[in-house]
Amino acid sequence: MRKTLYLRFLLAYLLFALFGFTAVATVVSRLTTEYCIRDNARRLYGEASRISDTFASDLYNSTISLETVQSQMEALASYMDTEIWILNPSGRMIVNSRRAPDPSEETIVEGFDSTVAAGNYYTTGNFFNSFKEDVLSVTAPITGSFKIRGYVVIHLPMSTVRSSADSMLNISWMMLIILLVLSLIILLFFTQYFYMPLRRIIKAAEQYALGNMHYRVPVEREDELGYLAASLGYMADTIARAEDDQKKFIANVSHDFRSPLTSMRGFLEAMLDGTIPPERHEHYLGVVLSETDRLTKLTQGLLTLNNLNTGGILLQRTDFDINDVIRRVAASFEQTCRTRKIRIKLLLTGKILYVNADLDKIQQVLYNLVDNALKFSRPDSDITIETTEKGETVFVSVRDSGIGIPKEEQSLIWDRFYKTDLSRGKDKKGTGLGLSIVREIIRAHDENINLVSTEGAGSTFTFTLRRSEKNDALNDMGEQE
Ligand code: ADP
Repeated sequence: MRKTLYLRFLLAYLLFALFGFTAVATVVSRLTTEYCIRDNARRLYGEASRISDTFASDLYNSTISLETVQSQMEALASYMDTEIWILNPSGRMIVNSRRAPDPSEETIVEGFDSTVAAGNYYTTGNFFNSFKEDVLSVTAPITGSFKIRGYVVIHLPMSTVRSSADSMLNISWMMLIILLVLSLIILLFFTQYFYMPLRRIIKAAEQYALGNMHYRVPVEREDELGYLAASLGYMADTIARAEDDQKKFIANVSHDFRSPLTSMRGFLEAMLDGTIPPERHEHYLGVVLSETDRLTKLTQGLLTLNNLNTGGILLQRTDFDINDVIRRVAASFEQTCRTRKIRIKLLLTGKILYVNADLDKIQQVLYNLVDNALKFSRPDSDITIETTEKGETVFVSVRDSGIGIPKEEQSLIWDRFYKTDLSRGKDKKGTGLGLSIVREIIRAHDENINLVSTEGAGSTFTFTLRRSEKNDALNDMGEQE
Protein backbone atom coordinates (compact mmCIF):
# COMPACT_ATOMS: atom_id res chain seq x y z
CA MET A 1 0.00 0.00 0.00
CA ARG A 2 1.19 3.51 -0.75
CA LYS A 3 2.28 5.43 2.29
CA THR A 4 0.25 8.58 1.91
CA LEU A 5 0.68 11.66 4.05
CA TYR A 6 -2.90 11.22 5.20
CA LEU A 7 -2.26 7.68 6.42
CA ARG A 8 0.76 8.85 8.34
CA PHE A 9 -1.22 11.60 10.02
CA LEU A 10 -4.03 9.17 10.86
CA LEU A 11 -1.54 6.71 12.30
CA ALA A 12 0.09 9.49 14.32
CA TYR A 13 -3.34 10.48 15.61
CA LEU A 14 -4.24 6.92 16.64
CA LEU A 15 -0.86 6.48 18.33
CA PHE A 16 -1.41 9.76 20.14
CA ALA A 17 -4.84 8.57 21.32
CA LEU A 18 -3.49 5.17 22.41
CA PHE A 19 -0.56 6.76 24.20
CA GLY A 20 -2.88 9.25 25.90
CA PHE A 21 -5.24 6.54 27.15
CA THR A 22 -2.42 4.32 28.38
CA ALA A 23 -0.73 7.24 30.14
CA VAL A 24 -3.90 8.32 31.91
CA ALA A 25 -4.84 4.73 32.83
CA THR A 26 -1.44 3.90 34.30
CA VAL A 27 1.02 6.67 35.15
CA VAL A 28 -1.46 9.51 35.70
CA SER A 29 -3.77 7.22 37.75
CA ARG A 30 -0.90 6.07 40.01
CA LEU A 31 0.46 9.59 40.43
CA THR A 32 -3.00 10.92 41.30
CA THR A 33 -3.59 8.22 43.95
CA GLU A 34 -0.14 8.84 45.44
CA TYR A 35 -0.81 12.54 45.47
CA CYS A 36 -4.14 12.05 47.25
CA ILE A 37 -2.59 9.75 49.85
CA ARG A 38 0.20 12.24 50.57
CA ASP A 39 -2.19 15.18 50.62
CA ASN A 40 -4.62 13.48 53.03
CA ALA A 41 -1.75 12.24 55.20
CA ARG A 42 -0.34 15.74 55.49
CA ARG A 43 -3.74 17.14 56.41
CA LEU A 44 -4.48 14.39 58.94
CA TYR A 45 -1.00 14.66 60.46
CA GLY A 46 -1.66 18.35 61.06
CA GLU A 47 -4.87 17.41 62.86
CA ALA A 48 -3.18 14.63 64.83
CA SER A 49 -0.39 16.97 65.95
CA ARG A 50 -2.93 19.55 67.02
CA ILE A 51 -4.86 16.92 69.04
CA SER A 52 -1.61 15.68 70.54
CA ASP A 53 -0.65 19.22 71.62
CA THR A 54 -4.05 20.03 73.08
CA PHE A 55 -6.51 17.33 74.17
CA ALA A 56 -4.03 14.47 74.45
CA SER A 57 -1.45 16.47 76.44
CA ASP A 58 -4.19 17.81 78.68
CA LEU A 59 -5.43 14.28 79.23
CA TYR A 60 -1.98 13.05 80.27
CA ASN A 61 -1.60 16.11 82.52
CA SER A 62 -5.04 15.28 83.96
CA THR A 63 -6.35 18.76 83.27
CA ILE A 64 -9.22 17.34 81.27
CA SER A 65 -11.38 14.27 81.86
CA LEU A 66 -11.23 11.15 79.67
CA GLU A 67 -14.95 11.49 78.88
CA THR A 68 -14.51 15.03 77.59
CA VAL A 69 -11.64 13.96 75.33
CA GLN A 70 -13.65 10.93 74.19
CA SER A 71 -16.67 13.06 73.24
CA GLN A 72 -14.47 15.71 71.58
CA MET A 73 -12.72 13.04 69.52
CA GLU A 74 -16.04 11.50 68.50
CA ALA A 75 -17.29 14.88 67.28
CA LEU A 76 -14.04 15.62 65.45
CA ALA A 77 -13.87 12.17 63.85
CA SER A 78 -17.40 12.32 62.60
CA TYR A 79 -16.73 15.80 61.20
CA MET A 80 -13.58 14.64 59.38
CA ASP A 81 -15.08 11.28 58.43
CA THR A 82 -12.17 9.52 60.13
CA GLU A 83 -11.44 7.40 63.18
CA ILE A 84 -9.29 8.88 65.95
CA TRP A 85 -7.39 6.85 68.50
CA ILE A 86 -5.21 7.79 71.41
CA LEU A 87 -2.81 4.98 72.32
CA ASN A 88 -0.22 4.75 74.99
CA PRO A 89 3.30 3.69 73.89
CA SER A 90 2.58 0.00 74.45
CA GLY A 91 -0.46 0.11 72.15
CA ARG A 92 -3.17 0.27 74.77
CA MET A 93 -6.23 2.05 73.53
CA ILE A 94 -7.06 5.12 75.68
CA VAL A 95 -9.53 6.86 73.36
CA ASN A 96 -11.36 5.47 70.33
CA SER A 97 -13.70 7.78 68.49
CA ARG A 98 -15.74 4.88 67.13
CA ARG A 99 -16.64 3.48 70.54
CA ALA A 100 -15.31 4.34 73.98
CA PRO A 101 -12.94 1.63 75.32
CA ASP A 102 -14.41 -0.41 78.13
CA PRO A 103 -12.43 0.60 81.28
CA SER A 104 -12.94 -2.89 82.67
CA GLU A 105 -11.07 -4.65 79.86
CA GLU A 106 -7.94 -3.46 78.12
CA THR A 107 -8.00 -3.00 74.38
CA ILE A 108 -4.53 -3.42 72.98
CA VAL A 109 -3.38 -2.97 69.41
CA GLU A 110 -1.43 -6.17 69.05
CA GLY A 111 2.06 -5.65 67.69
CA PHE A 112 1.76 -1.88 67.68
CA ASP A 113 5.08 -0.41 66.72
CA SER A 114 5.32 3.34 66.35
CA THR A 115 8.51 3.02 64.29
CA VAL A 116 6.71 1.13 61.55
CA ALA A 117 6.15 4.38 59.72
CA ALA A 118 9.68 5.55 60.42
CA GLY A 119 10.77 8.30 58.10
CA ASN A 120 7.18 8.59 56.98
CA TYR A 121 4.42 9.89 59.16
CA TYR A 122 1.81 7.68 57.54
CA THR A 123 1.12 4.04 56.63
CA THR A 124 -1.44 2.33 54.50
CA GLY A 125 -2.86 -1.10 55.22
CA ASN A 126 -4.98 -2.67 57.96
CA PHE A 127 -2.94 -1.07 60.81
CA PHE A 128 -1.72 -4.13 62.71
CA ASN A 129 -4.79 -6.16 61.69
CA SER A 130 -7.15 -3.64 63.33
CA PHE A 131 -9.28 -3.10 60.20
CA LYS A 132 -10.89 -5.34 57.58
CA GLU A 133 -10.41 -2.81 54.80
CA ASP A 134 -7.30 -0.80 53.99
CA VAL A 135 -6.91 2.50 55.82
CA LEU A 136 -4.52 5.44 55.68
CA SER A 137 -3.16 5.97 59.18
CA VAL A 138 -1.10 8.87 60.52
CA THR A 139 0.61 8.68 63.87
CA ALA A 140 1.62 11.76 65.89
CA PRO A 141 3.49 11.33 69.19
CA ILE A 142 2.26 12.92 72.43
CA THR A 143 5.33 14.22 74.23
CA GLY A 144 5.85 15.55 77.71
CA SER A 145 8.72 15.66 80.17
CA PHE A 146 11.11 14.72 77.34
CA LYS A 147 9.51 11.39 76.63
CA ILE A 148 6.77 9.95 74.50
CA ARG A 149 3.67 9.46 76.56
CA GLY A 150 1.44 8.15 73.83
CA TYR A 151 0.27 8.51 70.24
CA VAL A 152 -2.61 10.12 68.42
CA VAL A 153 -3.54 7.94 65.42
CA ILE A 154 -6.04 9.04 62.79
CA HIS A 155 -7.38 6.52 60.25
CA LEU A 156 -9.04 7.38 56.98
CA PRO A 157 -10.53 4.55 54.87
CA MET A 158 -8.53 4.07 51.65
CA SER A 159 -11.86 3.86 49.79
CA THR A 160 -12.39 7.57 50.63
CA VAL A 161 -8.87 8.40 49.40
CA ARG A 162 -9.42 6.41 46.22
CA SER A 163 -12.75 8.03 45.49
CA SER A 164 -11.21 11.51 45.77
CA ALA A 165 -8.33 10.28 43.52
CA ASP A 166 -10.92 8.97 41.06
CA SER A 167 -12.71 12.29 40.86
CA MET A 168 -9.35 13.98 40.20
CA LEU A 169 -8.56 11.39 37.55
CA ASN A 170 -11.88 12.12 35.88
CA ILE A 171 -10.54 15.61 35.14
CA SER A 172 -7.55 14.03 33.36
CA TRP A 173 -9.89 11.80 31.33
CA MET A 174 -11.98 14.82 30.39
CA MET A 175 -8.86 16.74 29.36
CA LEU A 176 -7.68 13.80 27.26
CA ILE A 177 -11.05 13.50 25.53
CA ILE A 178 -11.14 17.24 24.82
CA LEU A 179 -7.59 17.02 23.43
CA LEU A 180 -8.50 14.08 21.22
CA VAL A 181 -11.64 15.79 19.92
CA LEU A 182 -9.64 18.95 19.20
CA SER A 183 -6.92 17.03 17.37
CA LEU A 184 -9.59 15.14 15.41
CA ILE A 185 -11.02 18.50 14.34
CA ILE A 186 -7.51 19.61 13.31
CA LEU A 187 -7.08 16.35 11.39
CA LEU A 188 -10.39 16.88 9.55
CA PHE A 189 -9.43 20.50 8.86
CA PHE A 190 -6.06 19.37 7.52
CA THR A 191 -7.78 16.78 5.31
CA GLN A 192 -10.25 19.26 3.91
CA TYR A 193 -8.02 22.29 3.45
CA PHE A 194 -4.63 20.81 2.82
CA TYR A 195 -4.69 17.16 1.91
CA MET A 196 -7.60 17.14 -0.57
CA PRO A 197 -6.25 20.08 -2.63
CA LEU A 198 -2.83 18.44 -2.56
CA ARG A 199 -4.36 15.24 -3.95
CA ARG A 200 -6.01 17.27 -6.72
CA ILE A 201 -2.68 18.90 -7.56
CA ILE A 202 -0.99 15.48 -7.63
CA LYS A 203 -3.74 14.20 -9.95
CA ALA A 204 -3.13 17.16 -12.25
CA ALA A 205 0.62 16.51 -12.21
CA GLU A 206 -0.08 12.86 -13.15
CA GLN A 207 -2.29 14.00 -16.03
CA TYR A 208 0.49 16.33 -17.25
CA ALA A 209 2.98 13.48 -16.99
CA LEU A 210 0.64 11.44 -19.23
CA GLY A 211 0.68 14.28 -21.75
CA ASN A 212 -2.78 15.67 -21.06
CA MET A 213 -1.64 19.30 -20.97
CA HIS A 214 -5.17 20.67 -21.21
CA TYR A 215 -6.18 19.27 -17.80
CA ARG A 216 -7.15 22.08 -15.39
CA VAL A 217 -6.12 21.95 -11.72
CA PRO A 218 -9.38 22.40 -9.76
CA VAL A 219 -7.78 24.39 -6.91
CA GLU A 220 -8.71 28.04 -6.71
CA ARG A 221 -7.25 29.58 -3.59
CA GLU A 222 -5.20 32.56 -2.70
CA ASP A 223 -2.51 30.83 -0.68
CA GLU A 224 0.62 28.80 -1.41
CA LEU A 225 -1.42 25.81 -2.63
CA GLY A 226 -3.40 28.03 -4.98
CA TYR A 227 -0.12 29.50 -6.22
CA LEU A 228 1.30 26.02 -6.75
CA ALA A 229 -1.81 24.94 -8.68
CA ALA A 230 -1.76 28.11 -10.79
CA SER A 231 1.96 27.71 -11.53
CA LEU A 232 1.39 24.10 -12.53
CA GLY A 233 -1.46 25.15 -14.84
CA TYR A 234 0.70 27.90 -16.30
CA MET A 235 3.52 25.43 -16.88
CA ALA A 236 1.11 23.04 -18.64
CA ASP A 237 -0.17 25.88 -20.82
CA THR A 238 3.36 26.86 -21.76
CA ILE A 239 4.25 23.29 -22.63
CA ALA A 240 1.02 22.91 -24.63
CA ARG A 241 1.78 26.14 -26.49
CA ALA A 242 5.36 25.05 -27.12
CA GLU A 243 4.06 21.74 -28.47
CA ASP A 244 1.61 23.54 -30.75
CA ASP A 245 4.36 25.90 -31.91
CA GLN A 246 6.63 22.96 -32.57
CA LYS A 247 3.95 21.24 -34.66
CA LYS A 248 3.27 24.44 -36.60
CA PHE A 249 6.96 25.01 -37.04
CA ILE A 250 7.56 21.54 -38.44
CA ALA A 251 4.53 21.88 -40.74
CA ASN A 252 5.92 25.21 -42.01
CA VAL A 253 9.44 23.91 -42.43
CA SER A 254 8.27 20.88 -44.38
CA HIS A 255 6.00 23.04 -46.50
CA ASP A 256 8.77 25.53 -47.24
CA PHE A 257 11.20 22.78 -48.13
CA ARG A 258 8.70 20.79 -50.13
CA SER A 259 7.66 23.51 -52.57
CA PRO A 260 11.13 24.31 -54.01
CA LEU A 261 11.94 20.58 -54.09
CA THR A 262 8.70 19.84 -56.00
CA SER A 263 9.35 22.58 -58.52
CA MET A 264 13.00 21.50 -58.99
CA ARG A 265 11.93 17.88 -59.46
CA GLY A 266 9.27 19.00 -61.98
CA PHE A 267 11.82 20.97 -64.06
CA LEU A 268 14.44 18.22 -63.95
CA GLU A 269 11.92 15.51 -64.98
CA ALA A 270 10.64 17.72 -67.79
CA MET A 271 14.21 18.20 -69.01
CA LEU A 272 14.93 14.44 -68.83
CA ASP A 273 11.77 13.32 -70.67
CA GLY A 274 12.19 16.04 -73.29
CA THR A 275 9.13 18.12 -72.35
CA ILE A 276 11.58 21.01 -72.04
CA PRO A 277 13.63 21.20 -75.21
CA PRO A 278 17.45 21.24 -74.83
CA GLU A 279 17.71 24.88 -75.92
CA ARG A 280 15.60 25.90 -72.86
CA HIS A 281 17.66 23.78 -70.45
CA GLU A 282 19.96 26.65 -69.49
CA HIS A 283 17.04 28.81 -68.49
CA TYR A 284 15.43 26.10 -66.34
CA LEU A 285 18.75 25.08 -64.78
CA GLY A 286 18.99 28.73 -63.73
CA VAL A 287 15.57 28.41 -62.09
CA VAL A 288 16.66 25.20 -60.33
CA LEU A 289 19.82 26.97 -59.14
CA SER A 290 17.81 29.86 -57.70
CA GLU A 291 15.56 27.35 -55.91
CA THR A 292 18.66 25.72 -54.36
CA ASP A 293 19.69 29.23 -53.28
CA ARG A 294 16.36 29.59 -51.56
CA LEU A 295 16.80 26.24 -49.81
CA THR A 296 20.27 27.28 -48.67
CA LYS A 297 18.90 30.56 -47.39
CA LEU A 298 16.11 28.73 -45.57
CA THR A 299 18.54 26.31 -43.92
CA GLN A 300 20.82 29.18 -42.98
CA GLY A 301 17.91 31.11 -41.46
CA LEU A 302 16.74 28.09 -39.46
CA LEU A 303 20.24 27.47 -38.15
CA THR A 304 20.59 31.11 -37.11
CA LEU A 305 17.23 31.07 -35.34
CA ASN A 306 18.08 27.81 -33.62
CA ASN A 307 21.36 29.26 -32.38
CA LEU A 308 19.57 32.35 -31.16
CA ASN A 309 16.92 30.33 -29.31
CA THR A 310 18.99 27.72 -27.55
CA GLY A 311 20.46 28.76 -24.23
CA GLY A 312 20.25 32.46 -24.95
CA ILE A 313 22.61 34.26 -27.24
CA LEU A 314 26.14 34.91 -26.17
CA LEU A 315 26.60 38.48 -27.26
CA GLN A 316 30.04 39.78 -28.03
CA ARG A 317 29.46 43.37 -27.09
CA THR A 318 31.89 45.97 -28.34
CA ASP A 319 31.79 49.74 -28.85
CA PHE A 320 31.43 50.43 -32.55
CA ASP A 321 30.32 53.23 -34.83
CA ILE A 322 26.74 52.46 -35.92
CA ASN A 323 26.90 55.15 -38.62
CA ASP A 324 29.78 53.34 -40.23
CA VAL A 325 27.94 50.00 -40.12
CA ILE A 326 24.87 51.62 -41.73
CA ARG A 327 27.06 53.07 -44.50
CA ARG A 328 28.59 49.68 -45.21
CA VAL A 329 25.25 47.84 -45.26
CA ALA A 330 23.78 50.48 -47.58
CA ALA A 331 26.80 50.11 -49.86
CA SER A 332 26.31 46.36 -50.09
CA PHE A 333 22.87 46.93 -51.66
CA GLU A 334 24.24 49.39 -54.26
CA GLN A 335 23.88 47.02 -57.20
CA THR A 336 20.26 46.08 -56.39
CA CYS A 337 19.41 49.75 -55.84
CA ARG A 338 20.86 50.71 -59.18
CA THR A 339 18.86 48.06 -61.10
CA ARG A 340 15.62 49.00 -59.32
CA LYS A 341 16.28 52.72 -59.32
CA ILE A 342 15.92 52.94 -55.56
CA ARG A 343 17.92 55.48 -53.52
CA ILE A 344 19.07 54.84 -49.96
CA LYS A 345 19.22 58.10 -48.02
CA LEU A 346 21.24 58.27 -44.81
CA LEU A 347 20.22 60.76 -42.10
CA LEU A 348 22.90 60.07 -39.54
CA THR A 349 23.45 61.89 -36.26
CA GLY A 350 27.02 63.18 -36.00
CA LYS A 351 29.96 61.83 -37.87
CA ILE A 352 30.65 59.02 -35.50
CA LEU A 353 28.06 57.51 -33.17
CA TYR A 354 29.33 54.77 -30.91
CA VAL A 355 26.96 52.15 -29.57
CA ASN A 356 27.58 49.18 -27.32
CA ALA A 357 26.27 45.98 -28.95
CA ASP A 358 27.25 42.86 -30.88
CA LEU A 359 28.52 44.23 -34.19
CA ASP A 360 27.87 41.15 -36.37
CA LYS A 361 24.36 40.66 -35.05
CA ILE A 362 23.35 44.33 -35.44
CA GLN A 363 24.77 44.23 -38.95
CA GLN A 364 22.50 41.26 -39.66
CA VAL A 365 19.48 43.17 -38.24
CA LEU A 366 20.23 46.10 -40.55
CA TYR A 367 20.80 43.82 -43.49
CA ASN A 368 17.45 42.05 -42.99
CA LEU A 369 15.53 45.32 -42.56
CA VAL A 370 17.11 47.00 -45.61
CA ASP A 371 16.64 43.81 -47.63
CA ASN A 372 12.90 43.82 -46.77
CA ALA A 373 12.59 47.55 -47.46
CA LEU A 374 14.11 46.98 -50.90
CA LYS A 375 11.99 43.94 -51.66
CA PHE A 376 8.76 45.73 -50.86
CA SER A 377 9.59 49.17 -52.29
CA ARG A 378 8.31 50.44 -55.59
CA PRO A 379 10.93 51.16 -58.27
CA ASP A 380 12.16 54.75 -58.31
CA SER A 381 11.50 55.39 -54.60
CA ASP A 382 13.56 56.26 -51.52
CA ILE A 383 14.61 54.25 -48.47
CA THR A 384 15.77 56.30 -45.51
CA ILE A 385 18.01 55.04 -42.74
CA GLU A 386 18.17 57.40 -39.80
CA THR A 387 19.96 57.51 -36.45
CA THR A 388 18.88 59.71 -33.53
CA GLU A 389 20.06 60.01 -29.95
CA LYS A 390 17.96 60.47 -26.83
CA GLY A 391 19.80 60.29 -23.54
CA GLU A 392 21.58 56.97 -23.36
CA THR A 393 19.55 55.46 -26.21
CA VAL A 394 20.26 55.50 -29.92
CA PHE A 395 17.30 54.98 -32.28
CA VAL A 396 17.94 53.42 -35.70
CA SER A 397 15.11 53.43 -38.20
CA VAL A 398 14.68 52.02 -41.70
CA ARG A 399 11.85 53.65 -43.65
CA ASP A 400 10.47 52.73 -47.05
CA SER A 401 7.54 53.97 -49.07
CA GLY A 402 6.59 50.53 -50.33
CA ILE A 403 3.50 48.34 -50.10
CA GLY A 404 3.14 48.66 -46.30
CA ILE A 405 1.80 46.05 -43.90
CA PRO A 406 -1.94 45.75 -43.08
CA LYS A 407 -2.73 46.64 -39.42
CA GLU A 408 -4.06 43.20 -38.51
CA GLU A 409 -0.86 41.55 -39.74
CA GLN A 410 1.60 43.88 -38.05
CA SER A 411 1.86 41.75 -34.92
CA LEU A 412 2.21 38.53 -36.92
CA ILE A 413 5.15 39.37 -39.18
CA TRP A 414 7.58 38.61 -36.29
CA ASP A 415 6.46 34.97 -36.27
CA ARG A 416 8.60 32.43 -38.00
CA PHE A 417 7.55 31.79 -41.63
CA TYR A 418 4.93 34.51 -41.60
CA LYS A 419 4.46 36.43 -44.83
CA THR A 420 1.73 38.96 -45.52
CA ASP A 421 -0.74 38.29 -48.32
CA LEU A 422 0.29 41.61 -49.87
CA SER A 423 3.91 40.56 -50.18
CA ARG A 424 3.47 37.02 -51.48
CA GLY A 425 3.27 37.99 -55.15
CA LYS A 426 6.17 40.41 -54.85
CA ASP A 427 8.67 38.22 -53.03
CA LYS A 428 8.63 34.57 -53.95
CA LYS A 429 12.05 33.94 -52.43
CA GLY A 430 11.27 35.19 -48.92
CA THR A 431 11.57 32.65 -46.13
CA GLY A 432 9.55 34.51 -43.50
CA LEU A 433 12.44 34.08 -41.05
CA GLY A 434 14.19 37.44 -41.43
CA LEU A 435 12.11 39.42 -38.91
CA SER A 436 12.08 36.54 -36.38
CA ILE A 437 15.86 36.67 -36.42
CA VAL A 438 15.76 40.47 -36.07
CA ARG A 439 13.44 40.25 -33.08
CA GLU A 440 15.53 37.57 -31.32
CA ILE A 441 18.71 39.62 -31.73
CA ILE A 442 17.11 42.82 -30.44
CA ARG A 443 15.58 40.91 -27.50
CA ALA A 444 18.96 39.43 -26.62
CA HIS A 445 20.32 42.97 -26.40
CA ASP A 446 17.43 43.89 -24.05
CA GLU A 447 16.38 46.49 -26.56
CA ASN A 448 13.13 47.16 -28.44
CA ILE A 449 11.98 47.19 -32.01
CA ASN A 450 8.74 48.60 -33.27
CA LEU A 451 6.93 49.08 -36.53
CA VAL A 452 4.83 51.88 -37.92
CA SER A 453 3.26 51.02 -41.24
CA THR A 454 0.39 52.12 -43.46
CA GLU A 455 -0.87 49.85 -46.16
CA GLY A 456 0.11 51.22 -49.55
CA ALA A 457 2.21 54.05 -48.06
CA GLY A 458 5.24 52.33 -46.54
CA SER A 459 6.74 51.03 -43.34
CA THR A 460 9.22 52.23 -40.73
CA PHE A 461 11.07 49.77 -38.50
CA THR A 462 12.80 51.44 -35.53
CA PHE A 463 15.06 49.70 -33.04
CA THR A 464 16.99 50.97 -30.05
CA LEU A 465 20.62 50.50 -29.03
CA ARG A 466 22.64 51.49 -25.97
CA ARG A 467 24.78 54.56 -26.55
CA SER A 468 28.44 53.93 -25.76
CA GLU A 469 30.38 55.99 -23.20
CA LYS A 470 33.12 56.21 -25.77
CA ASN A 471 31.18 59.10 -27.39
CA ASP A 472 31.65 61.24 -24.26
CA ALA A 473 35.38 60.56 -24.17
CA LEU A 474 35.50 61.51 -27.84
CA ASN A 475 33.56 64.74 -27.24
CA ASP A 476 35.88 65.69 -24.36
CA MET A 477 38.89 65.23 -26.61
CA GLY A 478 37.20 67.37 -29.28
CA GLU A 479 36.61 70.17 -26.77
CA GLN A 480 40.20 70.08 -25.56
CA GLU A 481 41.47 70.41 -29.11
P1 ADP B 1 10.87 37.42 -45.63
O1 ADP B 1 12.08 36.59 -45.82
O2 ADP B 1 9.66 36.80 -46.21
O3 ADP B 1 11.08 38.85 -45.97
P2 ADP B 1 10.60 38.46 -42.98
O4 ADP B 1 10.47 37.78 -41.69
O5 ADP B 1 11.77 39.38 -43.15
O6 ADP B 1 10.59 37.34 -44.10
O7 ADP B 1 9.30 39.26 -43.23
C1 ADP B 1 8.06 38.67 -42.99
C2 ADP B 1 6.99 39.32 -43.79
O8 ADP B 1 6.74 40.64 -43.32
C3 ADP B 1 7.34 39.52 -45.23
O9 ADP B 1 7.09 38.36 -45.98
C4 ADP B 1 6.40 40.64 -45.62
O10 ADP B 1 5.13 40.12 -45.85
C5 ADP B 1 6.35 41.50 -44.37
N1 ADP B 1 7.32 42.61 -44.44
C6 ADP B 1 8.53 42.68 -43.85
N2 ADP B 1 9.13 43.89 -44.10
C7 ADP B 1 8.25 44.57 -44.87
C8 ADP B 1 8.29 45.89 -45.49
N3 ADP B 1 9.34 46.70 -45.33
N4 ADP B 1 7.23 46.26 -46.20
C9 ADP B 1 6.15 45.44 -46.35
N5 ADP B 1 6.08 44.19 -45.81
C10 ADP B 1 7.10 43.77 -45.10
